[in-house]
Amino acid sequence: MYRIGLTGGIASGKTTVSQLFAALGVPIIDSDEIARDIVAPGTATLAAIIGRFGRELLQPDGQLDRRRLRELVFADATARRDLEAITHPAIRAEMDRRSAIAGGDYQILAIPLLVEGGAARARERVERILVVDCPEALQIRRVMARDRSTEAAARAVLAAQASREARLAAADDVIVNHGDLADLRSQVEALHTQYRNAARDGRRDVAQ
Ligand code: ATP
Repeated sequence: MYRIGLTGGIASGKTTVSQLFAALGVPIIDSDEIARDIVAPGTATLAAIIGRFGRELLQPDGQLDRRRLRELVFADATARRDLEAITHPAIRAEMDRRSAIAGGDYQILAIPLLVEGGAARARERVERILVVDCPEALQIRRVMARDRSTEAAARAVLAAQASREARLAAADDVIVNHGDLADLRSQVEALHTQYRNAARDGRRDVAQ
């Protein structure tokens, strides 16, 4: 299967771009959505998290208190590593499982932290890295508008992610999202044609 890794900084427009690809019939496999699903009540991953961090991370309804967990690992690098050792393999396995059944000419794997995990490792998982890029000032404006956060809080989130330069250096393809939605759609359509052709060429090569 020909897979495209879609990534980008906070509020760069990843979800909007995913939706445009989905509207063209492309299967989207979303790591954020999977990260939520794998810790649902009754899952082995939730049991492992509770085993490591304690029952106080459960809400009264049995759901994981994700906010509390985030705060806990934010301040403690060892706790964060332990958490990632539990969740990352589970997320990967579930992405592979969904990818195997999703079909399509090609697939989009939406992975916000794809580049943060290292470009070389990213390339083991996907054929191409597609970065949604926009100026940092615009990212900050979008975060502030959407989350009603302060400029300082928005800047802090950006600072904790890979830099715009690092992400662009890892990119095979770039969508520049500083225009309107029509502009975004036409960039997505051009890439859709490119990816569909590349996936078909790849299949022909394998068949020969
Ligand atoms: P996050 O990293 O927080 O998940 P994201 O990268 O998925 O964000 P989106 O949710 O797609 O980004 O976009 C962030 C916000 O900016 C949304 O409110 C979205 O509607 C808006 N937005 C994105 N692209 C455009 C655009 N081209 N024109 C106008 N608004 C846009």
